[in-house]
Amino acid sequence: MEVPCVRVEREEGETARRRLAERDVLANDFEITVEDGWLYIPVDDPDAVPEEYEVVERAPPARERPEMPADLLGYEPSYERLGEIVILDEDDPERAAEIAQAVMDSALPARTVLNRASKIRGELRVRDWDVLAGDGTETVHREYGFEYALDLAAVYFSPRLATERHRVVEQVHEGERVLDMFAGVGPFVIPAAARSAEAVGVDLNEHAIEYLEENARRNGVADRVTAIRGDVRNVVAGSSGGRQPSNGIGDLSASASGSEPNGPDDGYEDWADRIVMNLPHSADAFLETAVALAGDTCVLHYYDIQHEDDPFGPGERAIREAAEPEYEVSVEERTVVRSYAPHELNVCLDVRLSR
Ligand code: SAM
Repeated sequence: MEVPCVRVEREEGETARRRLAERDVLANDFEITVEDGWLYIPVDDPDAVPEEYEVVERAPPARERPEMPADLLGYEPSYERLGEIVILDEDDPERAAEIAQAVMDSALPARTVLNRASKIRGELRVRDWDVLAGDGTETVHREYGFEYALDLAAVYFSPRLATERHRVVEQVHEGERVLDMFAGVGPFVIPAAARSAEAVGVDLNEHAIEYLEENARRNGVADRVTAIRGDVRNVVAGSSGGRQPSNGIGDLSASASGSEPNGPDDGYEDWADRIVMNLPHSADAFLETAVALAGDTCVLHYYDIQHEDDPFGPGERAIREAAEPEYEVSVEERTVVRSYAPHELNVCLDVRLSR
């Protein structure tokens, strides 16, 4: 079958391909071919090709498309991918089994297929999973160039928050002191450290802290990351939790039970230039702690879940109540992260506290 192709010299091929991709005119169903030192790049809209390129007719071979689950099922299943894990949210067990089989038989690089078996629950925010195919719930997920090892059965992680995390992390400056009060496996802490911040992640979940430590090493930022296991309310002075040396794992549960605390005992009171609070159902209960951790000026990223009629009001009022009059409070950005449930929104308030 003849299709229009842009003809360029081989050395110009990559530049031309990129320009055509930017204009969204590449005909991706056909292969790029080489003949006598010329490259033929198939396009689907010759009129949109920049004028300096010559367009000719050629018959390139059709590109072989890898077989996807939808090709095998005859319908488009909905699933999420996290590393080599494919996640389903199917109520019907037969349909779930059928999709799992198609995923494993398809060209998707899947090692395991999981179905959600409970809501996210408890303080540690983990859920139960049915393993439908393959085995194991551990994987390595890639997000914005970083790698996160994690076990979905043991820790919280949502790939849906990638864009939001990136939005926050892009605000981090070199040398900032960043404290993530609910750090999980480190998707805020690690990119913040990669922007040369001094980053501290606290989490109640010992598995999350182990992964955070591993992920700091994996991404080459261990020297700027401190991981602390325990209740973040004990991280402020007076807990004997104490500031940890860089690259150390603190353990506040050990301190609380009377063991020797790790590191100097000056805590993180008055310490942070930036605080991330991603525990949206109960962040308000931790605002007093956040204010104690905040330095003279500090940006708070406060996640909340509220009714769509007033998604930001309750958070802003709670922050003002906790921080004023010690701090001047100004809301710098209001972000709707995603819809959480009918009429409920997951939102983020970026708030500057200035003493
Ligand atoms: N920030 C991470 C992310 O985006 O993947 C994890 C967020 S997850 C919604 C909340 C985390 O807070 C969980 O890992 C949970 O174990 C931790 N957590 C809950 N209560 C805590 C507390 N009192 N102190 C420290 N961490 C806590």
